[in-house]
Amino acid sequence: MVKCAVIIVAAGRGHRFCSDMPKQYCDLGGRMILSHTLAAFCAHPLVHSVTTVIHPDDVELFKRAAKGLFKATYVFGGKERQDSVRLGLQSLKDENPDVVLIHDAARPFVSFDLINRVIAACADKGAIPALPVVDTLKFAGEGNLIQKTVDRKGLWRVQTPQGFPFAQILKAHEQAAGKALTDDAAVAESAGMSVVLIDGDEDNFKITTAADLTRAQKILNAETPECRTGLGFDVHAFAQGDGVWLCGVKIPHGKKLEGHSDADVALHALTDAILGAIGAGDIGVHFPPSDNRWKGKESSFFLKYAVALVKARGGRLVNVDLTVICEEPKVNKFRLEIVQSLSEMLELPAERIGFKGTTTEKLGFTGRKEGIAAQAVATVLL
Ligand code: MG
Repeated sequence: MVKCAVIIVAAGRGHRFCSDMPKQYCDLGGRMILSHTLAAFCAHPLVHSVTTVIHPDDVELFKRAAKGLFKATYVFGGKERQDSVRLGLQSLKDENPDVVLIHDAARPFVSFDLINRVIAACADKGAIPALPVVDTLKFAGEGNLIQKTVDRKGLWRVQTPQGFPFAQILKAHEQAAGKALTDDAAVAESAGMSVVLIDGDEDNFKITTAADLTRAQKILNAETPECRTGLGFDVHAFAQGDGVWLCGVKIPHGKKLEGHSDADVALHALTDAILGAIGAGDIGVHFPPSDNRWKGKESSFFLKYAVALVKARGGRLVNVDLTVICEEPKVNKFRLEIVQSLSEMLELPAERIGFKGTTTEKLGFTGRKEGIAAQAVATVLL
């Protein structure tokens, strides 16, 4: 799988329509514009990291915009947009992604499909979303007097995210430092890279004026809430130990569950169900076992991250239902504690949480007491 990093350019000082803060931090439907943008990338299963380039004065604003989205980090930008992008790219040298997507903070409606299209096209060249120019074009001089009609054939309006092979675009930006170029494709072109146009998206417009903000609000208002369901399943084997973690509750037992994290099989199934409901891949995509940051991590962290992604997408969790399958321990005895623990982690009332333990009548690996299986469903209103 390609390792894809994202840079969001958010260092601009434009105050056009909110007087007290830069526009990327203004409200759009109860969340900051930047929060919408961050959520779109953080929830995408192909995105490895999301780095926002911000102004040093905006650290607190950024932290509010990125609340709960641990994948979203920041670096400080420079004087011009191009400087900011270069600094963002340089901050990725250790991560060394295969490709990088560079996106404007003020394009909150970047879609899942558009991100897919850019990633698919940018492995060996630049790929930028674009829309054909449909209006007739005029060239006007002094007093707005038309001097000529411009042939629109071959002319395109370009958008972001613009995707590039990381090493090539980093080099191109370092070479272009000091030259004033209008977008990252222009930087790539100046270095002799090939850049291809792919299908853009009319809704992926940049919020620049108050009229754009009104248009964005209308789009949000027109969206009817959608009900989504996700399904999760997980298994962990028993090993030597003194108890198993289930839903954040330690249940005394003559064995423990084996795993990279705390092996809380029920929370893993539940996290997958929630991620599944919003198309955000699975727990392994966001917390790969190969990454030592997650070794021994409490699984409540994974679950809370999935819930944060739902919130960041403007959604809410409606209910969850969980079945734990094993001969022993007898988990139903702990139902009250487990539901209480889930209620706190999910910020959901107990009546919206189902939990039960069952057996497989001594059949199969759970029947032979070799491990525990768990399955979960989650409903999300998006
Ligand atoms: Mg697991």
